[in-house]
Amino acid sequence: MTAMSEAPIYLDHAATTPVDPEVAEAMLPFISGPLSFGNPSSIHSYGRAARAAVDEARDRVAKLVGADYGDVYFTASGTEADNLALMGAMLAAPAPRNHLITSVVEHHAVLRTAWFLETQGWSVTQLPVDNSGLISSASVSEAILDRTTLVSIMHANNEIGTVQPVAEFSRLARERGALFHTDAVQTAGILEMDFRSLGCDLLSLSAHKMYGPKGVGALVVRQGTRLSPIVHGGSQEREKRAGTENVAAIVGFGVAADIALGRRNDDAERLVKLRDYFVQKLTERIPGIRLNGSMNSRLPNNVNVSIDGKDGPTLLMNLDRHGVAASSGSACSSGSIEPSHVLKAIGLPDGLASSGIRFTLGRSTTREHLDIVVGRFGAIVDRLRLPVKTGR
Ligand code: PLP
Repeated sequence: MTAMSEAPIYLDHAATTPVDPEVAEAMLPFISGPLSFGNPSSIHSYGRAARAAVDEARDRVAKLVGADYGDVYFTASGTEADNLALMGAMLAAPAPRNHLITSVVEHHAVLRTAWFLETQGWSVTQLPVDNSGLISSASVSEAILDRTTLVSIMHANNEIGTVQPVAEFSRLARERGALFHTDAVQTAGILEMDFRSLGCDLLSLSAHKMYGPKGVGALVVRQGTRLSPIVHGGSQEREKRAGTENVAAIVGFGVAADIALGRRNDDAERLVKLRDYFVQKLTERIPGIRLNGSMNSRLPNNVNVSIDGKDGPTLLMNLDRHGVAASSGSACSSGSIEPSHVLKAIGLPDGLASSGIRFTLGRSTTREHLDIVVGRFGAIVDRLRLPVKTGR
């Protein structure tokens, strides 16, 4: 937290969103009180009440993405949904289908699962992106083999916000008998979405990116898709995901999905205006600032910028000290800056790829917030650009 007296300005909605008060209120009776007694697998009335609440949430989450109630399987996170999609599809595939296609810009929940599968003997192709982060249909088409089981390409990138034409990719996969998965964790709360017309077999969601609670996600599965469970135990989630359901979190996810469905179009319209205003003001204020990612095919709330020679973590810490919560794709490991894999993939040299700062806007963001952030960020960059004085 900042030492400043007012609350920091939160521009990190891609990392997580605050829980909507209506969501929190709906969850409370399942955390404490009579509704918290029931295990959804129990036959008695408490159990039936918990089961009914989970089922209602399942229906709400399904509606958010234009899927059927029976397509939704709750998991403990978006990460777990991605793991289930990749490992579940590869494990269930009949021989000789042993090939997985994904992209170089996926979230680590997909990338590291793909790399793990590779160590276990599956073959993996990672598709490149162009300098705006887009994957070409030609590269998808060329990569699909007769033995391809699954094509997994994210709907929108969490760092640079580039939105991929996944309906086109899923069509290409299906034509060749492969399954198609998309990680829609960053999009479902913000973009209109129809599971059927996207043509996906598998789609991952996470509640905490849409003003729901952390620690609950879902995998949407087209009925009839071959999928092995990866968590074994009880027969919860129709034997696709063992473990007693996190009823309160699932209820919260359902309410968050319902709220998002009601307002996401209006939110997106407002956010696009704010995003474009912010980009314009940053460009005017900070000479040499570079916008990363596609401007035409971009999430309404994402602004990712680089400033040559300034590393992301330093900028980020300065922003934090000045009451602005943002994010950087680069990580500090063993004292050195590890450039973002996404910024490297769009062709940025190490200097720029280490300097990415991601601002992600949300429901509470106003023009006034953005004006303040432009002023503070501009002053930080000015200060960091000053030549270092050497004392005598
Ligand atoms: N996929 C994408 C694109 C994400 O942005 C994230 C989270 O940042 C995840 C997956 C993982 O979701 P969770 O935090 O629910 O595990």
